[in-house]
Amino acid sequence: MTIINGKTKLLGVIGDPIGHTLSPPMHNAAIDALGLNYVYLPLPIAPENLATAIAGLSAIDLQGFSVTIPHKLAIIPLLSQITEKARLVGAVNTVWRTETGWQGTNTDVDGFLAPLKSLDKDWSRVNPVILGNGGAARAVVVACAQLGCGEIHVVGRNQKKLDPFKESWANTSLYDLLEVHGWDELEGMLPTTELLINSTPIGMSPQGEQSPVELELLDLLPSSAIAYDLIYNPRPTKFLRLAQTRGIRIIDGLEMLVNQGAIALEIWLGQPVPVSVMREALLKQF
Ligand code: NAP
Repeated sequence: MTIINGKTKLLGVIGDPIGHTLSPPMHNAAIDALGLNYVYLPLPIAPENLATAIAGLSAIDLQGFSVTIPHKLAIIPLLSQITEKARLVGAVNTVWRTETGWQGTNTDVDGFLAPLKSLDKDWSRVNPVILGNGGAARAVVVACAQLGCGEIHVVGRNQKKLDPFKESWANTSLYDLLEVHGWDELEGMLPTTELLINSTPIGMSPQGEQSPVELELLDLLPSSAIAYDLIYNPRPTKFLRLAQTRGIRIIDGLEMLVNQGAIALEIWLGQPVPVSVMREALLKQF
């Protein structure tokens, strides 16, 4: 185990509340396995203290930090620069120190893509359907565009939120790829859906017996489809269990969680990190 001493470098996660975070065991397990003198800490920061806290983190020479709810948008004006990816998503989840100040990015995009990249698919022929239009869906939309998918369909329950969701990408190449729909249109889309993604919290513990899509509708998917649930508790979710009974390939949210963390840790440490160690550390927390 890493011994904290006078030379230990600091990393952490800012959020409010922060007690539920799974990140410290995941990152510290990888740091330990690499034998590095770093420690990753939970840093509870209330919204009204964000600016003061970020200045303080700079002053104590923190090397970098993860950003979780409710700071993913509010942090942006406090950074000296953000990546194009973070700009497209509209949120930052990873920050590191540069000579000119803090820089931010969004590793959810590549974390989401990690389990898809190894699959043998012609993504240009895949028109993904994303359920939900919240913060995570934004990263998934950017990821699907990066993957080279065809049309990207987002299904939401609130038209008043769906239109601004699409408009937020006006003047980008993503705008023309994106279509937004009400849930009543889902059934008609499923027979040609090769990638169905749940980015709603439907089915998340303690509501583990719910599914965003019932079995009769999952029956409409092509047999070559992939069902991807961003939820990682329970594993697998009811949505994925139902899809599995129909022979559909499934991916659960743990891969996105571990890979977004691994990409962040690589940025801070400047070297490859042991993803399998991070996955094991996460699994021990369920
Ligand atoms: P969010 O910003 O609150 O968005 C949730 C979306 O789901 C909203 O569009 C919401 O609609 C919709 N929704 C909620 N309940 C619904 C219902 N009963 N019926 C229909 N739509 C419903 O949350 P988020 O940050 O995007 O997170 C979404 C899920 O992804 C969560 O389960 C989270 O744990 C998971 N997640 C996983 C990872 C990972 O690394 N695996 C990363 C991020 C998020 P309204 O806007 O109309 O309320």
